[in-house]
Amino acid sequence: MNSGGGINETHDSGLRSWVAGAHDAKTDFPLQNLPLGVFRRRATREWRLGTRLGETIVDIAAMCSLELLPDAGSDARLLSAPTLNPLMAAGQSAWQRLRASLSLALRDAGIAAERARAHSSDILVPVVDAELRIAADIGDYTDFYASIHHATNVGAMFRPDNPLLPNYRWVPIGYHGRASSIVISGTPVRRPRGQTAPATGSDRPQFGPTGRLDYEAELGFFVGSANTLGARIPIETAPMHLFGACLLNDWSARDIQAWEYQPLGPFLAKNFASTLSPWIITWEALAPFRTAAMQRAEGDPAPLPYLFSAEDQRSGALNVDVTVELRSAGMRQRGEPPARLSQSNAAGLYWTPAQMLTHHASNGCNLRPGDLLGSGTISGASKESQGCLLELTNRGALPVQLPGNETRAFLEDGDEVVMRARCTAPGFVTIGFGECRGIIDPAGEP
Ligand code: MN
Repeated sequence: MNSGGGINETHDSGLRSWVAGAHDAKTDFPLQNLPLGVFRRRATREWRLGTRLGETIVDIAAMCSLELLPDAGSDARLLSAPTLNPLMAAGQSAWQRLRASLSLALRDAGIAAERARAHSSDILVPVVDAELRIAADIGDYTDFYASIHHATNVGAMFRPDNPLLPNYRWVPIGYHGRASSIVISGTPVRRPRGQTAPATGSDRPQFGPTGRLDYEAELGFFVGSANTLGARIPIETAPMHLFGACLLNDWSARDIQAWEYQPLGPFLAKNFASTLSPWIITWEALAPFRTAAMQRAEGDPAPLPYLFSAEDQRSGALNVDVTVELRSAGMRQRGEPPARLSQSNAAGLYWTPAQMLTHHASNGCNLRPGDLLGSGTISGASKESQGCLLELTNRGALPVQLPGNETRAFLEDGDEVVMRARCTAPGFVTIGFGECRGIIDPAGEP
């Protein structure tokens, strides 16, 4: 068994960093997090690997060339690349060396820390002076459907008597998404056009801007090391292939989706844009927040043997709180803060990340470093935990109330959706994912 890196010294709640602001009360990025991203200083061209402490980016490439990473010196080629793919491909031991080295060099005492601190002006960049991009070249993107609550709620809208299809409890359902339209948090999303079902009394579908634009609150899981074509990934070793997680907004045009999805599943309703948060929270950083897989209801089948391991059942889920906020153009004008729409937790997903990964490779499909797996909309059992407007408004029938007497059935132009995620566990320092935000631009000229 290999848990993919358990709890170790880098998670110690007593560690403090010498970087100012690293342990501010509300930061998502204390020394125990050490997320990975790709940034550049404004007005420079060169993309570089970095980590983040509080409101400061630490330049990993610069640390490497200044020989400030005690155990990662042999990884210089990986750490000076403009994407995370080479590091992802190098496997778990390289990931662990980097985290251990960063932790040593950025804590408040020790030889490595003193050396790094002496170079602080070479390696620290305020977040506000940097630009971020998607940290990996994403070759392929697959979106799952792992929340049984989401699947049941959505299924009930279309099949009230039979909301959950018979395959759901056996097979992690997914579809192949599109990597080219994945964008970084902060990128505006243009309202897509598409074909929708004929209006009542008409026999022809129409083509135009979607009237039912929605978000989906999800986690994204990055594949680290590959499997070769034809070789499967056993559930026991699946965590060794998982590099890290981020927030994912799977923007969806529900009217386009409803007309096109049969028989082959979502297509243009979802591939016009998908937004990712910029910082990848490594699988190792998430170790303290692993938790038991969702307890299946009595009468539900056990997973088939290839999707079952005792360790995955015991600790394969992630205890991550995911919140969604909305701020309309009117709320911005009036100076009002974003309104919370929902809060849910990824521990309630029916399938664990390892099960999704193992299933994806179970036919011999080769996963590659930088591939992205989406969890599917993370909805819980309660109304307040539903992770998209389709569910929250019951297909638009019961609009949600916003401050200033506004309501929303679906997203309007100028609306900004902000997702956040935090992990807490007794005895450990809380870490977060940062933000995943996007604002809706009008469809524009036809
Ligand atoms: Mn989705």
